[in-house]
Amino acid sequence: MIASPAAASRNAVFDLRSDFLSPPTDAMKAAIAEALADASSFGLREDARQQALEARAAELLGKEDALLFPTCTMANLVAVMAQVRPGEVVLAEAESHVLVSEGGGASALGGALLRGLPGSDGAMNIGRLEHEFAAGSDAQRPAVALVVVENTHNRAGGAPLPLDHVDAVGQLAAARGVGVHLDGSRLFNAASALGVSARRLAEPATTVAISLNKGLCAPLGAILAGPRPVIREAERLRQMLGGGFRPTGAIAAAGLIALDEMPGRIGDDHHTARAMAARIAEVSGGAATVAKPPTNIVMVDLAAGGVTAAAVAEQLAGHGVLCLPFGHARLRLCLHRGIGPEAVEPVASAFAVVLGKTPRAPSLPRRDQPEPKV
Ligand SMILES: *Cc1c(COP(=O)(O)O)cnc(C)c1O
Repeated sequence: MIASPAAASRNAVFDLRSDFLSPPTDAMKAAIAEALADASSFGLREDARQQALEARAAELLGKEDALLFPTCTMANLVAVMAQVRPGEVVLAEAESHVLVSEGGGASALGGALLRGLPGSDGAMNIGRLEHEFAAGSDAQRPAVALVVVENTHNRAGGAPLPLDHVDAVGQLAAARGVGVHLDGSRLFNAASALGVSARRLAEPATTVAISLNKGLCAPLGAILAGPRPVIREAERLRQMLGGGFRPTGAIAAAGLIALDEMPGRIGDDHHTARAMAARIAEVSGGAATVAKPPTNIVMVDLAAGGVTAAAVAEQLAGHGVLCLPFGHARLRLCLHRGIGPEAVEPVASAFAVVLGKTPRAPSLPRRDQPEPKV
C-alpha cells in the first residue's frame, strides 16, 4: 500500500485512483456559486434546481421520476430496500459493486439475501439466472425479488454490458414479475462505448442509479430513477438513512450541467485510457499485461512480472502516479477529465522505471488470501 496517501497526493501529478477525482468544470463552479447566493429551500424536494435536475434525469433515463442522492451507494441500497422484503433474494454478478464494495448494506440494513452469480466481463451467466428462477420459491426456499446489473462493470475493468445481455436479463426477470435494478454508476461510459443511449440501456431496468460525480464531473451526487411509487418510497428510505440533505441547490446546479454537458465528452476518457494502456504495455517489457480498455478503466496485470500490485503502486506514487491496487497482482487506473492525453507519456515512463526496478517478490501471496475490496 501507499505508505501515506495524503503525503503522496500532495506531490502527485497524475491521480488515477478513481474517476470521482474528476474536477468540476468552470461552468459548474459558476453555477454552484450562483446557487449558493440564492435563498435556500426547506422541503425535501422543494428546491427548484433539484426539481429541474430530477426531472431532467428522469427524462434522460426514461423513468417516471428521479430522486437526488448524496452517493450512488445509498441510491443502490435504497433501490434494494424499496423493492425487496427482508429474507428475499437479490441476484447479482458475483464481483458486482453491490456485493463487494457497499459494506454489505443491502443485507445489514435491507435484510436482503444477496446471492452472487458467476459471470464473464461483468455479465452474469444467463443459464445460472434461468436456473435461479426455475428453482422457484416456497415456504422453505426464499423468493428472488430483484436482479442487479452493473453497467459499466467496475471490477471487470469498466466493461460495458452488451445491450442484448441487459435485455435478456430484463426479459427473464419480467417473465417472473421480478424487478431489475441497474447500478449505472458509469452508465454514460457504457452508452458512449456502445453507441446506445443511456435511456435505451436503462429500458429493461425497473430502477436505475447513476453517479453524477464520476465521469460526469460534479463534485457530489447520484440519482435514483424509477416508477413513481418506488421513488416515493425511496424518498422515505433516503430520509431514514440520513440522505435527505439540504440545501441541495448547489449540488443540483452542478448535477444539471453534469447531465447536459458531460456525457458528450466522456469518450475522450476512453481514448486516453486506450492510449495509456497501449503505452504501458509497450514499455513494460512483458512485466505487465494490459488489455485494451473498453471504457475509462485501465487494468494492469502484473502477474507475469512476479511483482505485487501494492509494491508497484507504492513506487509509482514516488514518481507522481497514483493508482489503486486491485487484488494482489492488478492495478486499476481510472481516466477522467482531470487526466488528459498529455499524461500518457509521463505515466508510461513512470511504469517503465518502476517495472524495471521493482524487486521480484519471493512469492506472490496466495489467491485465496483476502483481496482489498474497492
Ligand atoms: C463508485 C460506484 C458506486 C458507488 O458510488 P458512490 O457515490 O461512491 O457511493 C456504485 N457502483 C459502482 C459500479 C461504482 O463504481
